[in-house]
Amino acid sequence: MAKSKVFDIVEKALSGILIDKEEIDLLFRVPLKTEEAMVIQYGSRKMSEHLSRGKAEIHGQVGINIGPCPKNCQFCSFASSNKVFPTNSVLSLEDIIARCQDFEDVGANAIYLMSTANFSFARYVEIAQEVRKNLKPETVLVANVGDFTYEQALALKQAGVNGVYHALRLGEGTVTGIDPSLRLNTFKAAKEAGLALGTCVEPVGPEHSVEELVEKTLIARESNPVFSGAMRRITLPGTPLSKYGMMSEAKMAHILAVVRLAMGPDILGNCTHEPNVYGAAAGANLIWAEVGSNPRDIAGETQKNRGFSVEKCREIFWEADWEVLSGPSQFFLSAI
Ligand code: SF4
Repeated sequence: MAKSKVFDIVEKALSGILIDKEEIDLLFRVPLKTEEAMVIQYGSRKMSEHLSRGKAEIHGQVGINIGPCPKNCQFCSFASSNKVFPTNSVLSLEDIIARCQDFEDVGANAIYLMSTANFSFARYVEIAQEVRKNLKPETVLVANVGDFTYEQALALKQAGVNGVYHALRLGEGTVTGIDPSLRLNTFKAAKEAGLALGTCVEPVGPEHSVEELVEKTLIARESNPVFSGAMRRITLPGTPLSKYGMMSEAKMAHILAVVRLAMGPDILGNCTHEPNVYGAAAGANLIWAEVGSNPRDIAGETQKNRGFSVEKCREIFWEADWEVLSGPSQFFLSAI
């Protein structure tokens, strides 16, 4: 591979021109531990620093329920088929509100309410409405739920939700029980209802081809989100995907850097999950703290296991030499 070609593509992305499918493909194929790979990460960091004016964001997610989900996404601990959580439970409304207020108190830039896909949508809207009433008006509230219609998107909006997290995942329709077109319809419904969209290329594992990474990167870009990025699949022991192992943080840093460069100048945020210094140094300007349920965890209260606190996320950004934004998420505010 000609060195100059990679340098040219990075320069093109930094100049604000969208790089094309072949160029994205080429960047994904650059081997780690090469000068070209470092230039890709340098370009990604530079672009993220510029687009978010040197400020990274920490968002806090409250997982509100646990239980077997019939969609059976093989990477998720809630999948019925994975048999991690055989029974249903939901946090009390008081507890959900208290956890959201805790995130607000410690300076999370946005607060997400996550439920499993089969959780009652009507109940979710009631909870979101109560949470909204108990947060500061300027706090950004984001829904992370299953697929929904335009009418349901409007109900979220009316409940005081500002945006949604949604993704067309790697292996959608193959390792998940969800038709990819349903995910895309949800993107559309959210947009039409005036909800800002955050998305991500996820969950990445060693089993995924460059072709699929490119396809999902382009789908993310075309969905016009306020942030994209890359998240790795966490191995759930004893589940079918565990045979593939997991991506290292170094490999994920390369992938999130390519995604950053591919998104172009209109998409301000570039996330990674789970939070790590390598990813932040390579251009991730958004990471998450988590409490309650978590589809990557086998513990029902993720803050006692995999979930990071806002404070821990601050330390990660400090180590990566990022300043953290104070106040509501600029990524979401740019679109609402
Ligand atoms: S990722 Fe969502 S839809 Fe899939 S099994 Fe888990 S909760 Fe259900």
